[in-house]
Amino acid sequence: MINENLATIKNSIPSHVTLVAVSKTKPNELIQEAYSSGQRIFGENKAQELKNKAEVLPKDIEWHFIGHLQRNKVKYIAPYASLIHSIDSIKLLIEVNKQGLNNNRIINCLLQFHIATEETKFGLSLEEAKELLTSNEFLNLKNIKIVGVMGMASFINNEEQVRNEFIRLKHIFTQLNNNFFKQTQTFQTISMGMSGDYKIAIEEGSTMVRVGSAIFGNRN
Ligand SMILES: *Cc1c(COP(=O)(O)O)cnc(C)c1O
Repeated sequence: MINENLATIKNSIPSHVTLVAVSKTKPNELIQEAYSSGQRIFGENKAQELKNKAEVLPKDIEWHFIGHLQRNKVKYIAPYASLIHSIDSIKLLIEVNKQGLNNNRIINCLLQFHIATEETKFGLSLEEAKELLTSNEFLNLKNIKIVGVMGMASFINNEEQVRNEFIRLKHIFTQLNNNFFKQTQTFQTISMGMSGDYKIAIEEGSTMVRVGSAIFGNRN
């Protein structure tokens, strides 16, 4: 099942788009199954769960943290996370930097944007991101690297609205790239698209999709 699902999804996404297999709430046996069919990038949204899985599963797995991150939980994922998708404040970024330093590594991060109409979703506005990126505090952080943006579209059955939210995130990415990252060329990732909307997201410029239920089945 899982290998068939993975094959179907891989066949439907272009080679420049990275597939993050979202394994949150799923047991290690199922992750191992996906690993056996070649998947190496997995996404988790609970810090302790990511840590527990990373400790026992193969070491060449790239673990992505995709959920809302509390500052007091950063220490659990700092040794393992190859990418944190959910940076939504300078305070959180300062803590990630501190734990990166503690672990002697540079942690790649995405800025999360609030693009949905639903209020429950987390994320920055473009103005807040510009403020973050021009702050003195940000300029002192040597153990993090901002490599792109992430966003979640509204969870609704309205393709036009979902598409417009993805277009907005692509626009935010372009603005930030032009204003802050043109020289470094390290700003490359647009993480958008889930099981229900990743095809639309790719049409609108996604370079990284986060797909859970279409691979592992529904969560409880
Ligand atoms: C759970 C989750 C996903 C995957 O959702 P599916 O609909 O199961 O593909 C993607 N991104 C984030 C941030 C998530 O929390």
